Amino acid sequence: MSLQTIVVRNPATLEKIAELPAAQAVDVAAAVKRGREAQALWQKTSFGERAKLLYRLRDFLLDRGDELGDILTAETGRPKAEVYGAELFYLCDAIGVWAKKSAGYLRSEKIRPHFPLMKFKKVVSTYEPRGVIGIISPWNFPLTLTLGEALPAMMAGNAVVIKPSELTPLSAVFGAECAAKAGFPENLLQVIIGDGATGTALIDHADMIAFTGSVETGKRVMQRAAERLIPVSLELGGKDPMIVLKDADLERAAGACVWGALMNSGQACTSIERVYVEAPVYQQFVDRVVEKTRAIRQGPSDDEVDIGCMTSEAQLNKITGQVDEAVANGARVLTGGQRNPRLRGYYYEPTVLVDIDHTMNVMSEETFGPIIPVVKVNNVEDALRLANDSRYGLSASIFSRDSAFAWQLARRLQSGSVCINDALVNYIIPDAPMGGRKQSGFGYRHGADGIRKFCQQKTIIVDRFGLKEEFPWYPSTKKKSEQIRHLLNLLCHTGWRHKLRALGALMRS
Ligand code: NAD
Repeated sequence: MSLQTIVVRNPATLEKIAELPAAQAVDVAAAVKRGREAQALWQKTSFGERAKLLYRLRDFLLDRGDELGDILTAETGRPKAEVYGAELFYLCDAIGVWAKKSAGYLRSEKIRPHFPLMKFKKVVSTYEPRGVIGIISPWNFPLTLTLGEALPAMMAGNAVVIKPSELTPLSAVFGAECAAKAGFPENLLQVIIGDGATGTALIDHADMIAFTGSVETGKRVMQRAAERLIPVSLELGGKDPMIVLKDADLERAAGACVWGALMNSGQACTSIERVYVEAPVYQQFVDRVVEKTRAIRQGPSDDEVDIGCMTSEAQLNKITGQVDEAVANGARVLTGGQRNPRLRGYYYEPTVLVDIDHTMNVMSEETFGPIIPVVKVNNVEDALRLANDSRYGLSASIFSRDSAFAWQLARRLQSGSVCINDALVNYIIPDAPMGGRKQSGFGYRHGADGIRKFCQQKTIIVDRFGLKEEFPWYPSTKKKSEQIRHLLNLLCHTGWRHKLRALGALMRS
């Protein structure tokens, strides 16, 4: 049965911060209908007009940054610096990218046909909006993964209905309010509150679903969308490996590892979730990572801290379960390894684990927490084999001073993106395509494909000469079918003798 209300709690204090009515199936249908009406007018606006509104939205978000920061920290339990750095900074840059580049990404393309007889036609491929895009998103970046995904959809001429996570719906609501105040047409960007049932209803009415979330829900979303044959893009989980080669700059590698694994308390789809280090530098690397991890300050958002808490109790329990299972099977905790006893909310201590292997869940399943499992490997091939031994393939990183070698290795990693001597940055370059392989999903966000996915391609072909009839038209005769065969030989056969024979036959016919 569908929920009637959604209760939102601050995961740092466990206090209730909001209770909102949940959208029922009939509300979702009505929202999509309103969106469809708004879209009919919106698709007639120019890219310039859309971009102008995007810039106004950006100013609104910046002017109301304090309010937005409070909402985001309250619903996620993250520190302010992280909220501004990871969410607002990303969104403001993304607005610049979509405002400037959308027209180019969706420019109509003139096509020169390969077949000589078709060269006389004018052929143009165009992009058209799909209609109403349903965005279903998770809780780990409540603004980036809602409003951020809506930007290219709207720039492409669509209306958007967002179903944010039931754990963190407030910043999406705030973002939609800002969009309305910035002048976006009424109902072009709507937010519906609810859990999975509300998401299911959205799949039953929208023209496309852009889903970000877990693999398991992604499969259900695709099944439901298959009933209406609507397209989906699926941005799912990851178990991102980091490879540290023996020639790496260990100081940079250790710093990137701690940042890449602990940012947002490890609750990022592209977090570093497992680390493979060549034996000669293993101990030095581990020592540095442990030292840096011990220096991480954890606590409530208003204090000067580096990381906050898990966004839900379920997430806290999942991490606890993975670490406990690993320890029971022989893993050693070098720092952390438990719920933070000093803090009230869902805080798990930043943790470094060693003596682990791929039979443990902490190495095979997505953790989504502040856990750094480090494995010693004999050589590069072992590192590569283990890195690719995963059902996920979202992102990866390699550390080496030999950038040519690292590049070759990057090409062999089964991963949607690879950072060399860096971590996490692939998400924050909205001009570069980002997507997963294997069970990390398909479809891209960012770059040209990140907006084209919200469009239908239409090819328009124009006859230039206006002849009374064309060669393949009726009536079909024996002579015509012979001529077609000769023409095929003339144009397509690789042997010159065949070509000449076909030409002669054609001239005689
Ligand atoms: P989730 O799959 O539990 O939920 C995601 C969204 O789907 C929520 O809004 C939820 O209400 C909705 N939902 C649940 N059941 C549904 C159904 N049957 N039909 C339609 N909607 C339904 O994921 P989560 O726990 O909120 O988020 C964490 C996951 O998101 C992690 O696996 C993480 O890796 C992934 N993620 C991926 C990316 C990426 O870009 N690849 C980015 C961020 C997060």
